[in-house]
Amino acid sequence: MAHEELFLRFSGFLGRIHNTQGQNHRAIVVADRSGYEDLVQRLVPRWKVSGTHAGRLHAFAEVPLFVDSRATRNIQVADLVAWAVWRYYERDRQTHIQCLNRRFGAAGGIQHGLTHLVRGYARCACVACASRRGLGVASTVPSLKPSPGAP
Ligand SMILES: [Zn+2]
Repeated sequence: MAHEELFLRFSGFLGRIHNTQGQNHRAIVVADRSGYEDLVQRLVPRWKVSGTHAGRLHAFAEVPLFVDSRATRNIQVADLVAWAVWRYYERDRQTHIQCLNRRFGAAGGIQHGLTHLVRGYARCACVACASRRGLGVASTVPSLKPSPGAP
């Protein structure tokens, strides 16, 4: 489930802040209203206690709160980021993600805030997979089209 992975990423971000800066933070997730609202609100308490496929969500102070995106600009900003990421991966458009790429959370040269969940990340040309291979955070976002002559 995409929500589980997203919350794990956020939990990991808070864990890195704790480990590197000694700061403890608690998380509240605010999301746009969707058909997943009831399901996610039932699952998060379970993920906090029993854990997800990759560990427990320790830092979540509350179940996710769902709001009308017209009521808060923060949700509209999140929608813009999601749109830029979608255009990069689904339409191979780099323009908007280029502006955002260095803003995704990273530590030790590995981009944790943008992750491409794909098998064979070792062969993927995207910035997230390149970072995962230890190539650092790219200053220029590459095209995802295979280059001529590539296997
Ligand atoms: Zn990738």
